[in-house]
Amino acid sequence: MAEFTPQPSCADDVDHNNLTVKQASQRIHDLLSPISGWQKVSLRQALGQVLHQSVVSPRQVPPYDNSAMDGYAFRSDDIKKAPFSLKNVGVAFAGKPYQGQVEAGQCVRIMTGAKIPDDCDTVVMQEQIEAHEQTITLHTDVTAGQNVRLAGEDIDCGDTVLPAGRRITAADLGLLASLGIAEVVTYRPLRVAFFSTGDELCGLGENLGDGQIYDSNRYTLFGMLSQLNIDVIDMGVVPDNKAALRIALQQASADADVIISSGGVSVGDADYVKDILAELGQVNFWKIAMRPGRPLAFGQIDEAMFFGLPGNPVSVMVTFYQFVQPALKRLAGETDTGPIIVEVPCDNAIKKRAGRFEFQRGILFRNNEGQLRVSTTGAQGSGILRSMSMANCFILLDENCDGLSAGSLVNVQPFAGLV
Ligand code: AMP
Ligand code: MG
Repeated sequence: MAEFTPQPSCADDVDHNNLTVKQASQRIHDLLSPISGWQKVSLRQALGQVLHQSVVSPRQVPPYDNSAMDGYAFRSDDIKKAPFSLKNVGVAFAGKPYQGQVEAGQCVRIMTGAKIPDDCDTVVMQEQIEAHEQTITLHTDVTAGQNVRLAGEDIDCGDTVLPAGRRITAADLGLLASLGIAEVVTYRPLRVAFFSTGDELCGLGENLGDGQIYDSNRYTLFGMLSQLNIDVIDMGVVPDNKAALRIALQQASADADVIISSGGVSVGDADYVKDILAELGQVNFWKIAMRPGRPLAFGQIDEAMFFGLPGNPVSVMVTFYQFVQPALKRLAGETDTGPIIVEVPCDNAIKKRAGRFEFQRGILFRNNEGQLRVSTTGAQGSGILRSMSMANCFILLDENCDGLSAGSLVNVQPFAGLV
């Protein structure tokens, strides 16, 4: 189950109606620690999972000295000023080492990756020699040890190759395979239950009634969660009534490490999430000085953590990426290195008032001169999901920013690696 340190609601002197993005992120971070469950999994299964134990190399990579080139292997004692000749006494293929001796004045034809024969330590590229029957003549100067990849050059026995907390990538799978490692110990996947709230919400496949809209938040949430290798529990749409919400939250807290809802956290007459959360567990309700996505309920029901996201579709995605995703990574055991942020000129002017942090949706591109630029996706309303779909980055406008003229430098958080 999730590790969570309950906090008395609103018990300190921070203004809960106006937390900065940084304060809110820090608080979520401080309240969480990784889950304790782990599992042994086969290598392919480990893709996208988080290492619970560091991986220490049981062997050297490469495991033996081998040739970096197609050419001829010989003893460095034989190096003379070019030109000089050597007698070819055999051949070494990758996977089929040369078994004989190599005496002074001799060489062995060798392929890339083949084991360097005993007594040899230097390779000359085949392009740099002239071959006459059993003799080769070297016309360029050579250096002792050249074109040889030494045993243990990449990884030595006992080296930590992957640290605990690392989310395993395709390159890591190859790296582990190169060490002969067939199983690793990872954190067990998080279980996350999510649902939408709202009487106006209609499921796919149903006809839209008067005053209804299709529920899109459950689909963006499903997509965002699936990218984190999470076991998702889709609880559907919960109507705007206290009893239904109570049942949904109780059920979710029994099944999941984390519960995420969207909608019903504002100050409308049908916004009950906060009340029911307070009744069933602990609640930290924050208004964050940000746009979009101002209200965020954060708390705990029994062992499960709860995030009550706003209902507007763009707010859901922005608050997920800024607060929920880092929290899920932390719970899942990942040592998150934080987002990559780049500073680029913005092609268009941006209107903004100081006071709130804005996450505008942007398109990062190269202009005709090959320079990296960003532009906004246009209208930035928190209900305009198309702005997220078109975007490939967030444009980060901090609390102090009071608008930008075209060409100003802005911080940008690319979706690559985030989304
Ligand atoms: P709320 O936070 O419940 O007041 O909702 C804010 C806005 O987001 C309203 O316009 C809702 O209709 C809309 N909304 C809430 N939930 C969803 C959802 N699951 N899919 C699409 N729009 C939603
Ligand atoms: Mg609602």
